[in-house]
Amino acid sequence: MDQRRKVPRTDAVLTDPRLVSAMAVLGRATVKGVVAGSQERARRGEIAPESVADAAVAALPRRATTLTPVINATGVVLHTNLGRAPLSGAAVEAISAAAGHTDVEFDLVTGHRARRGRGTLEALAAAVPDAEAMHVVNNGAAALVLAATALAGGREIVVSRGELIEIGDGFRLPDLMQSTGARLREVGTTNRAALDDYECAIGPETAFLLKVHPSNFVVRGFTSAVATRELARLGVPVVVDIGSGLLTSEPSLPDEPDATTALRDGAALVTASGDKLLGGPQAGLLLGRADIVERLRRHPLARALRVDKLTLAALEATLRGPESPTRRALRRVPGELRERAETLAKRLVEAGIAAEAVPTAAVVGGGGAPGVELPSWAVALTAGLAEPLRAKAVVGRVERGRLLLDLRCVPPDRDGEVYAAVREA
Ligand SMILES: *Cc1c(COP(=O)(O)O)cnc(C)c1O
Repeated sequence: MDQRRKVPRTDAVLTDPRLVSAMAVLGRATVKGVVAGSQERARRGEIAPESVADAAVAALPRRATTLTPVINATGVVLHTNLGRAPLSGAAVEAISAAAGHTDVEFDLVTGHRARRGRGTLEALAAAVPDAEAMHVVNNGAAALVLAATALAGGREIVVSRGELIEIGDGFRLPDLMQSTGARLREVGTTNRAALDDYECAIGPETAFLLKVHPSNFVVRGFTSAVATRELARLGVPVVVDIGSGLLTSEPSLPDEPDATTALRDGAALVTASGDKLLGGPQAGLLLGRADIVERLRRHPLARALRVDKLTLAALEATLRGPESPTRRALRRVPGELRERAETLAKRLVEAGIAAEAVPTAAVVGGGGAPGVELPSWAVALTAGLAEPLRAKAVVGRVERGRLLLDLRCVPPDRDGEVYAAVREA
């Protein structure tokens, strides 16, 4: 009872300058909730009544969102569970600048309405000169839905059985396409499809031929698929879902399809994701023939799949700005990674922690280049550190009983944070 009377009142605690400034970031309700928690601890005698403000400050969340930034030491460049592509500084800056009022659909010269996201579309046009027109939607799946709905509603899409893929999390492309009211006309077998198969399937009901990049698996052995260039000769529009978002070919990933090549090979439309190998925000890109893109743009569904100004800003900055963190992660050379891993391991050993630099194989991830291994280097630690390190928002991978902190996706200027996190963990 005595103890309870000494616990300071909420209003008094909230005059603490540290809590006042926290309210500007976190909101009054959140800070009050944290203070209430500290008062409760004081009532239970867990902390001294005069420590209520200090305890509240210590318990404050860092930011007004529960999303926690993590260091991706998994060696998976595009990790869907970790938010796929990290944005460049330029893209982050663009998002922040666009967050307030912005001229996204307004012409500051004439004072009239202007085409939404025109700067982003211009940047895309400059990046892919082979595309006559382009449109941006929420993600790659939305791009496919829009193409199927606007171009093939009630009609047929011809697709190879070997390309009826599941993207992940039980999410299947055939189901998605059929949900639009289009009918899938499957041709070939799981491992093989020939030009003839497509040719025989084409009829008056055919809206387009669909070619899908199997971006998360490879079929080896007795296989064949028909190239876009051959399909384009059949006289029906070819839609190519490249998935990964490479706009032009990437030397480090020679087998990965790109939009420019697909268009040069005769694709009428290419669909791709913004947050895979392009290294931008979540978005779906549609690039291709002007008449087809115009039909997509005019379809009522386009409004429901529209991207917001933040996405437009980040996408434009990704296209115009410096090399994306994703591309940098792809291009890091093993020699540099080895040096960093050895330096980090040496410092940890000096601090009394068992650590060793080891060669590893990093991967691109669900976003593309299945089967491609990127030679990398990691710091190997005991597996018991995996959990405490996750609590410090450093995510590695456990392999053969050891925790590997793969440095391929860790920007070099964050090695110090990794070191500090391991020491604390
Ligand atoms: C990733 C992927 C999609 C889905 O794109 P999201 O941007 O994740 O919606 C579709 N097709 C292919 C081939 C993909 O790789």
